[in-house]
Amino acid sequence: MAEEPCQCSECQRFYKEHDRLIRQFPSFKQQQESSWTSIQSFRTLCNKVTDELQRELSERQSNEDINSEEKHISDKEITEALDELESVNAYLYSIEALMERIFDTNISNNIESKFKEIANELAPDPLNMDRLILNRLFHQTPDSPDKKNIN
Ligand SMILES: [Zn+2]
Repeated sequence: MAEEPCQCSECQRFYKEHDRLIRQFPSFKQQQESSWTSIQSFRTLCNKVTDELQRELSERQSNEDINSEEKHISDKEITEALDELESVNAYLYSIEALMERIFDTNISNNIESKFKEIANELAPDPLNMDRLILNRLFHQTPDSPDKKNIN
């Protein structure tokens, strides 16, 4: 028997975001573009922070008598972060190379339609009218006032 998916708040946030991305980018092309953009924005931000930390560290090294109160982040913390970010940047670079291969893939309009159809099944719009009506019907008791109004 299949295990129930975890329902902790972190996982629920993931499921919600996962479905939102399918709903918002329901075609192959849109998924290509959003994944590519996501990797690029992550790289841009990491690179910028790395540059800034390196600049700050070298500034400190050339200026020994810097006031310790100006150091919100310790030298050790910066050095460790730079090591971590160097690895992350290398991984992101590898992912980007793979994404480029995925980005080169083109699919026909018929297959794109299939993507949109399946996306709609996987992650239907929670605010979709049909779904709201259906939900309301499910939650009604047979003799509730709402039901009488329908008849
Ligand atoms: Zn969980």
